[in-house]
Amino acid sequence: MELIRRLHLMREISQEARGRGRKIGLVPTMGALHDGHLSLVRRARELCDLVVVSVFVNPAQFGPNEDFDRYPRDLTRDADLCVQEGVDYLFAPSGEEMYPPGYRTWVEVEGLSDVFEGASRPGHFRGVATVVLKLFNIVRPHFSFFGQKDGQQVVIVQRMIRDLNLDVELVVCPTQRDADGLALSSRNAYLDPDERAAATCLYRALERARELIEDQGVRDARQVEAAMRQVIESEPLARLDYLAITDTETLERVDEIDRRVLVALAVWIGETRLIDNMILEPRKRGAHATMEEARP
Ligand code: AMP
Repeated sequence: MELIRRLHLMREISQEARGRGRKIGLVPTMGALHDGHLSLVRRARELCDLVVVSVFVNPAQFGPNEDFDRYPRDLTRDADLCVQEGVDYLFAPSGEEMYPPGYRTWVEVEGLSDVFEGASRPGHFRGVATVVLKLFNIVRPHFSFFGQKDGQQVVIVQRMIRDLNLDVELVVCPTQRDADGLALSSRNAYLDPDERAAATCLYRALERARELIEDQGVRDARQVEAAMRQVIESEPLARLDYLAITDTETLERVDEIDRRVLVALAVWIGETRLIDNMILEPRKRGAHATMEEARP
C-alpha cells in the first residue's frame, strides 16, 4: 500500500489506472478507522480492482463550536488497518492543498441539506458535498462507498451525483454495530463507561420503531415518534436533538407510514452527539411478518 499526500500524485495514479481499464473504488473517511469503515473497504475490495481510502478531517463540515480540533486522528494506525485490508492507496491530503488561500467554491444541495442533521449543524452538508465532489474529481472513482450510518449524507450525495451528472456509482453499505446495537462511530471514543452504556438508547429507540412499524403494523408516524421519545427520555444521560420519520429520497416528514421510511435520530449523550437510523418498511395490510407468526 502507498500513502499519497499530494493531490497531483493521486490524480496521476487514478488517470493511469483508468487508462488501463481498472475499476477504481473510493472509500471517503475522516480516519480513526473502525470496523464500520472497514466494512466499506471490504465491499470496495470485492467490487473494484484498485481501492483508495481517503482520510481527511474536513474542516468545512465542522461548525465553529464543534469537535474539529479534538476529532481523533491516528494516521499510522489507519495505515496499518488499510494494509491489513489490502487497500492500494491511502490518500491523506493536507488542508492547505484541499482549501488553499482564495478558495471560494461550495456545493449546496438545496432543501435536503438544511433539515435534521443540517438544521442542527448549519453548513455541515455544504462542507460534505463540497469535499465529496472534490474527492471524486481528484480520485475519479467508478464506485464510491458510503455507510447507511450517515443516512442523510447518503441521500444528499446521491442527489448531487444525479443533479451534477457525476460518473460515479454510489454503493451504500449496512451500518456496523457493537454487540449491544450501538452503531460504530469514531465519536464513541469520547464516551465514558456510563455514557457508553446510555448510548445504546439510540438503537433501542430504533428497535422500538422497528417493532411498531414492521411487527405490529403501526402506520401513525407520530405514535412511533412518541414511543421512541419515551425510550430516549427514560435514559438520564441522554438528551434528544431530533427525531425524524421521513421519505427515503425527499427527506420530507411522513404522517402515515405507507412506504419505506428513513427513521433517523440524533441524541446528545453528555457532551457527545451521536446519530443513527434505520430504513423501515411497513407491513403489508393483512400480511404476517413470518410463517411462524401466521400459525394459530
Ligand atoms: P466518517 O469517517 O465518520 O466520515 O465515515 C466515513 C464513512 O464510513 C461514511 O460513509 C460513514 O457512513 C461510514 N461509516 C461510519 N460508521 C459506520 C458504521 N458503523 N457502519 C457502516 N458505515 C459506517
